[in-house]
Amino acid sequence: MSSKRDFYDVLGVAKNASAEEIKKAYRKMAIKYHPDKNPGDKQAEDNFKEAAEAYEILSNAEKKQRYDHYGHAGVGGASAGGGGGHGGMNMEDIFSQFGDIFGNGGSPFESFFGGGQQSRSSGRRVAKGSNLRIKVKLTLEEIANGAEKKIKVNKQIVCKTCDGSGAKDRSSVSTCKTCGGSGAVRRVTNTILGQMQTTSTCPTCNGSGQQITAKCTACHGDGTVRGEETITINIPAGVSDGMQLSMSGKGNAAPNGGIPGDLIILIEELPHESLKREGNNVVYDLHVSIVDAALGYSAEVPTIDGKAKIKIEPGTQSGKLLRLKGKGIPEINSYQRGDEIIHVNIWTPKALSPEERAILEKLRDSPNFKPQPGKNDKSFFEKMKEYFE
Ligand SMILES: [Zn+2]
Ligand SMILES: [Zn+2]
Repeated sequence: MSSKRDFYDVLGVAKNASAEEIKKAYRKMAIKYHPDKNPGDKQAEDNFKEAAEAYEILSNAEKKQRYDHYGHAGVGGASAGGGGGHGGMNMEDIFSQFGDIFGNGGSPFESFFGGGQQSRSSGRRVAKGSNLRIKVKLTLEEIANGAEKKIKVNKQIVCKTCDGSGAKDRSSVSTCKTCGGSGAVRRVTNTILGQMQTTSTCPTCNGSGQQITAKCTACHGDGTVRGEETITINIPAGVSDGMQLSMSGKGNAAPNGGIPGDLIILIEELPHESLKREGNNVVYDLHVSIVDAALGYSAEVPTIDGKAKIKIEPGTQSGKLLRLKGKGIPEINSYQRGDEIIHVNIWTPKALSPEERAILEKLRDSPNFKPQPGKNDKSFFEKMKEYFE
């Protein structure tokens, strides 16, 4: 506290300056160092607070006299507020001071800062509704194409009877008598060091600034009731299991006309009967008979958009991976799309009729039926790597 600058120096006025001169000097400082004009500038903020504190003392005849006699000790270092910084004047105290120096209505200050002080100095608190969570189950097709879901949700909705005000009718709403509509109460206590001032949310109106004399009978004054709402949710293509989407303002309504909460949508992916998702690719396990694998054929495979044909070359080996380009899942918020990968499995018959057995017995020693794996054939893992990385 001893390092505190002289209040007259802070405002740049002489010790014998008149009340009018002090006021003028502070006004200049307040405009120069106003936080709206110096966003994020800590030095400006400190100067702003320092000037406010100096003015707080020098504009008050009694405090000024004590300060003139005893210096900072005479005004207890902290003249207002609870502590910290430059004597602990908080921004709210400073802004509330402006009414005195700039006057209300048409002040140069308001035109300069666009009336920002009004919202700053007000202790009004707006209630927020709670978030609502729902689970949405989607098929792979819906995920691939995006989906519009209309979902009925049970939640707190704005009371229609009172339009969310909680009041019986218009005449039963009045300005809060405790706080005069500001939503905040100021408490002044006298201590040895001078007056201490604290500001807190008004307990009567909970910060709304309004008082209700007769409550709405439908919602008992809450402004919200339990209800049902059908919400249309647009789910973008490419979402995945466990992903959360949020719709702002679609959660529970807030009491007394506050801001509604958000709707949090948890995505659950339903398994597809034949396709498996692997990132943005889908994988299909195709089973090919020994004969088809040896002779080649045109296989029909399921895709997200229906059936597709794919050519199986004569002599196709088990484990071969084939690709249908662009038949996978779109990347979320992008034009990129994954592929469908077809994993070829050669089907070995599990049971044979005597005729079939006879034919195969004949082929047993046929040279082309002897396995002849090439040295350079890729292993299963090499192939997987190639396709999925
Ligand atoms: Zn109501
Ligand atoms: Zn109040």
